[in-house]
Amino acid sequence: MLELHGIGACAGVADGPLFRYRPKRTKPRRRTVSDIPAELARLDAAIAAVKTELGALRDRALEAGMNPGDAKIFESQTAMLEDEDFLAAVRDNIQETKLCAERVVDTTGEAFADTLRGLGDPYLAARADDLTDAAKRVVAVLCDQPGASFRDLPARAVLAAETLTPSEALGLDKSKVCAFLMRGGSPESHASILARSLGIPTVTALGDEFDKLEDGVRTMVDGETGLVVQCPDQGTMALLAQKLVRRVREDHSLQTLRGKPCISKHGVRIRLTANIAMPAEAKRALVHDAEGIGLFRTEFLYMERGGKPTEDYLFTAYQEVLLAMGTRRVAVRLPDFSTEKASYFPEVSSEANPALGMRPLSLLLAHPDMLNTQLRALVRASIYGNLAVLLPMVVDPQEVREVRERLEEVRRGLIDEGRNVAQKIELGVMIETPAAVMTADILAREADFLCIGTNDLAQYLLVCDRTQTARATSVQRHPAVLRAIAQAVRSAHAENVPVCICGECACDISLAGFFAGIGADELSMTPSEILKMKQAVRALSAQDCRNALERALDLAEAPEFPVLENKEDA
Ligand code: PEP
Ligand code: MG
Repeated sequence: MLELHGIGACAGVADGPLFRYRPKRTKPRRRTVSDIPAELARLDAAIAAVKTELGALRDRALEAGMNPGDAKIFESQTAMLEDEDFLAAVRDNIQETKLCAERVVDTTGEAFADTLRGLGDPYLAARADDLTDAAKRVVAVLCDQPGASFRDLPARAVLAAETLTPSEALGLDKSKVCAFLMRGGSPESHASILARSLGIPTVTALGDEFDKLEDGVRTMVDGETGLVVQCPDQGTMALLAQKLVRRVREDHSLQTLRGKPCISKHGVRIRLTANIAMPAEAKRALVHDAEGIGLFRTEFLYMERGGKPTEDYLFTAYQEVLLAMGTRRVAVRLPDFSTEKASYFPEVSSEANPALGMRPLSLLLAHPDMLNTQLRALVRASIYGNLAVLLPMVVDPQEVREVRERLEEVRRGLIDEGRNVAQKIELGVMIETPAAVMTADILAREADFLCIGTNDLAQYLLVCDRTQTARATSVQRHPAVLRAIAQAVRSAHAENVPVCICGECACDISLAGFFAGIGADELSMTPSEILKMKQAVRALSAQDCRNALERALDLAEAPEFPVLENKEDA
């Protein structure tokens, strides 16, 4: 039996064969060929095989419920393999250099992709990655080594990866992956957030022990404690099986809370809403009793599509979520391309430190076409429900004013075009930096509500990279982070502006008393955690909240918060 310990990032017990994901393929060797017509025929056959494979992938994705717009990525990769310039360059190269097709496809694919990336257009840069991927598929067929990819997964596999990019994480198929293990990462890296939103038990930060895991071997995973066991003995199997049964029972008892209000014993009411990354998640959020969408991370619409989405595509995505949520508020965040997601914009990812690079709002204001497309899609969708627009990583009140002006211009423009639009669209400001906390009163005067993103706030307050292994979610319980949250809530409430907390700590039930004590108006989290938080809040008394505040803020005596002064236990 081999026992490893990492950091649990999504609770749940799983049992399946281990599958190691190795996305990097070795470069094909420089091999000369003498029969050029035969080599060209081999090339044609490989391209045809990959086109068939891409078609099958698209069909499978559609069957699995992928939005038809997103599935177009497979068609665009097919189109790249039909591109006359690309094909002519590969053929000419084979004829001139007499090198094997795999080597030529690899180098020509890279050269074409570099040219696209060099044009400085994010859309074309994303197309470059599609081209590289399509070329790699052809190389793999020519080398007769399909290599590792999600399509080779055995049934109900435990997927082990060094780390996954957000777009790779979006490709995880819950029907095939029963658990997810990472050498690095942290519970707050976007790969973990996405795995959590898919409900896949996840363990991160296994470190060098990760190398001991053997492919194909039976592996049991406890995503709560971070335990990973290969070839489990009878005792471990029995223990984890019991845990699985307990979880099923707990889930069952949580279901009795559906439809009941999230209100403490002393009458403090907190709205519990969901964080989502893809439109289809909205319906799942309702199953978990979400009172709205507190955070829709729209950058994933760009990343999954691998290019610049059109206004119609974005409109359809927002309309789907708004229709699903009815009158419940849906806070759609403008795309946030920071930290690991910066790769979408070469101008940010090429900076020495993208986490301190151009902030998402400045980036959008510097790309007025992209901002305009976003705002038009949002305003057009606004009539289908209760829409709010959320601004990421704000530090400058002037930027909030500028976006508000743009939003109003777009709204008036659409009315002039004869379209129906909502009378009012609320604007929310994310508080994710120390600067935003210090000026929360000023930002509150510019906003209809504030939303505290504790993943980034902890990163910038504690100078601690959110993607790094050493960082556990518990950093969000550091008194500096909790004092910053309390300060921002106090400042916003003094301006009569409500506050949502939407970082990963929003589902930490050990903080329920703290959140109720400071009077947080809303907590937005992974949908599957909503009922657990509701159970925790409903059990709280005023005294529990005072104790929680003392503990959380590391103070001898709980500071006074209006919600505690006004409400005593019944
Ligand atoms: C946060 O930073 O806490 C947040 C909610 O935004 P994201 O995790 O998408 O950066
Ligand atoms: Mg953030």
